[in-house]
Amino acid sequence: MSEPRQVVIIGAGVAGLTSALTLLTNSSDTVKVTVLEAASTVGGQIRTTPFAGLSIDEGPDAFLARVPWATQLASELGLGASMTSPTDAHASIWHNGLHNIPGDLMLGVPAKVRAFATSGLISPLGKLRAAIEPLLPATTDTDSIGEYVRSRFGNQIQERLVDPLIGSIYAADSDNFSMAAVPQIASLTASRSMLLAAGKARAAAAKNPAGPIFATPKRGIGALIELLTQRVTALGGHILTGESVSAIEKENTGYTVFTSRGQHRADAIVIASPAKPSSNFVRPLDTRAADLLGQWSHASVVLITMAIPASQWPARLKGSGYLVPKPDQRWVSAASFGSNKWAHWRPDDGSMILRVSLGRDGLEVLHFDNDKLINLALADMKLHLGVDMTPSEIRVSRWAESFPQYRPHHFARLAELEHSLGSAAPGIVFAGASYRGIGIPACVQQARAAADATLSHLATLHS
Ligand SMILES: Cc1cc2nc3c(=O)[nH]c(=O)nc-3n(C[C@H](O)[C@H](O)[C@H](O)COP(=O)(O)OP(=O)(O)OC[C@H]3O[C@@H](n4cnc5c(N)ncnc54)[C@H](O)[C@@H]3O)c2cc1C
Repeated sequence: MSEPRQVVIIGAGVAGLTSALTLLTNSSDTVKVTVLEAASTVGGQIRTTPFAGLSIDEGPDAFLARVPWATQLASELGLGASMTSPTDAHASIWHNGLHNIPGDLMLGVPAKVRAFATSGLISPLGKLRAAIEPLLPATTDTDSIGEYVRSRFGNQIQERLVDPLIGSIYAADSDNFSMAAVPQIASLTASRSMLLAAGKARAAAAKNPAGPIFATPKRGIGALIELLTQRVTALGGHILTGESVSAIEKENTGYTVFTSRGQHRADAIVIASPAKPSSNFVRPLDTRAADLLGQWSHASVVLITMAIPASQWPARLKGSGYLVPKPDQRWVSAASFGSNKWAHWRPDDGSMILRVSLGRDGLEVLHFDNDKLINLALADMKLHLGVDMTPSEIRVSRWAESFPQYRPHHFARLAELEHSLGSAAPGIVFAGASYRGIGIPACVQQARAAADATLSHLATLHS
């Protein structure tokens, strides 16, 4: 009998843990899997902790359910019956007051003229400019979302609809973000008019009404990590925390992975850690790949969770929250009225759970201390909502360099990276938010593909 092959996975976020689960499930006892995690806990950006007597997420609070990957993982982990979806409370955009986000949009791109014609968000001149979009010649030669949308619809649609919606998902400045990295937007550029393409896409979607757009486990997204960890361990995988990978070196057969605590032999490696920190440990293998990884940008955000006593919360604020367009932003980029958005986030005393986001690509906030951040958030909300609030409970979650920024031509850089490392170090693959899609479903999809590619590589090795 031949010795089992050794696979090392770097990073125990959702991408690393799902890679481990997939490898162990598909390889029985022919593969040994070790996950190395630098932090003292697993989960990466997924964290659910007690707040106001409930379990409230500190990072993501839901995943997209219109694509299959995260939903399938949740079912595989036995979470199917305990999933829930947001209420039908409406989200708004703040521009000198709250405006309902119009219907008939695709990630902010108008699918019908009425999406902007009747909205107070866009001025009469802005409406006229947007209305001529179907008559304009084709736009070519740009992978910047902002540049493309401005050329089609003018500045107001970009700044007051598209950028707030995309910016809130990616903590991005969509003028400096790759269109190819947002498939819903990229798919609208195949024909000359974005408005007509969006109209057709929405009409096609309406013929096949799908279920809710977002889903989450009732006890928080952290349930995914808890169950992944249990399953990986039960299948014989090893998850080691406090093991920061510092270098990978190539050996006659396979690799040695050096960490803050020791070293591990590997026949194949999945890099499921963010691009920038991965640059250092890849350098001994391939300086070009290390240089490329080092060039990735990551944006930092702060998420402040507050419990607002019922007596202070105005009854008129029934929506799920609001986004702030970049030109209107001071520090707050979005606020989620959590107890309106989620039926399971309602404390017994009737308090409102708020989650307020500060910072994005180009708007640094991490240098402020917690007291300052809380004061900035409360002052911005007073401006936006006209209410003085004194939270009964507050939690500040700092997410340093948490959102990878897919600059225009991101996928060309990724292809160069994978080509370079693939030649220098076969059997090493990437998975996770820095590479082929931000968000939990895209991380799960990449993890599945990384596990498949790893098993294919192991099959080529002689025993
Ligand atoms: C505030 C916030 C809100 C979000 N909201 C949503 C949402 O609503 N829906 C959604 O789908 N997505 C959301 N996201 C994005 C989503 O959470 C992430 O894209 C996803 O969790 C990333 O998973 P990952 O495994 O790729 O990376 P990570 O979770 O970043 O995990 C990578 C791991 O690698 C480890 N690591 C780094 N360097 C090393 C090293 N040298 N050695 C060993 N380990 C190392 C890190 O410690 C980390 O644990 C949000 C993110 C944030 C921050």
